Amino acid sequence: MVCQGHYGKRLELTPLPRQCYNNRVINPQERRIETKPWEPDRNGLLLVVSGPSAVGKDTVLDALLSLPGEALPAPVQKCVTTTTREPRLMETDGVDYRFVSAARFNDLVARDELLEYAEVHNNYYGTPRAEVAGARAQGMDVILKIDVQGGRAVKQKMPDAVLIFLQPPSLEELERRLRGRATESEEDIARRLLNARKEMAQRPHYDYAVTNDAVEAAVDTIVAILRAEHCRIRLGPPNA
Ligand code: 5GP
Repeated sequence: MVCQGHYGKRLELTPLPRQCYNNRVINPQERRIETKPWEPDRNGLLLVVSGPSAVGKDTVLDALLSLPGEALPAPVQKCVTTTTREPRLMETDGVDYRFVSAARFNDLVARDELLEYAEVHNNYYGTPRAEVAGARAQGMDVILKIDVQGGRAVKQKMPDAVLIFLQPPSLEELERRLRGRATESEEDIARRLLNARKEMAQRPHYDYAVTNDAVEAAVDTIVAILRAEHCRIRLGPPNA
């Protein structure tokens, strides 16, 4: 491609390879990123997605994770977190969560193997530290689907984490979605709705708010955030 540059000088421009984004060249076979020498931060982003129960976090994240590689600025991976909650029907150990006993969870806490952990709806949930660091070191953007306490804890430990709050169009719509899911008891629904109000109050601690009115639009917005965050100039050594 030939362009007319400043002061009338002709410039020879080589088109970028198709899979080159923001100085990062993705090897499609390995889904890894080779970083150019002028970009010292080789780590992928750490993206935290929080939002009230039944807002549609799983649906939105599943849609995001099923996008073709070229639609994203870097490969993304969702971190499977650990919980003491009983698996729901259709949930698989190691896919939806790592389901563990309370004793095993305490052991993980004692060994400092969790980046953060919190009690949510009377159960414990925690993020495996090594898995997050390992994936980021390979240049993957890691997504954590965790609650607002976890989001704030992660931001404190890793200020470069990007916090997205997924919100419903309204609380009435949230209740409709929660009931439509038909997985919780009446008592559970009441508790989750109460928690939803508290969680909504934590929005100001987040970097971005995305409304899940339509899944495709919410996914598009998150992709735009990822693109913008890949262009952000980050100072200092990467947080792993
Ligand atoms: P659920 O039981 O509906 O799957 O999840 C309940 C809440 O726990 C959700 O808000 C979910 O995002 C959150 N959660 C899942 N894993 C973790 C985790 O590792 N840490 C924290 N702090 N919250 C989590």
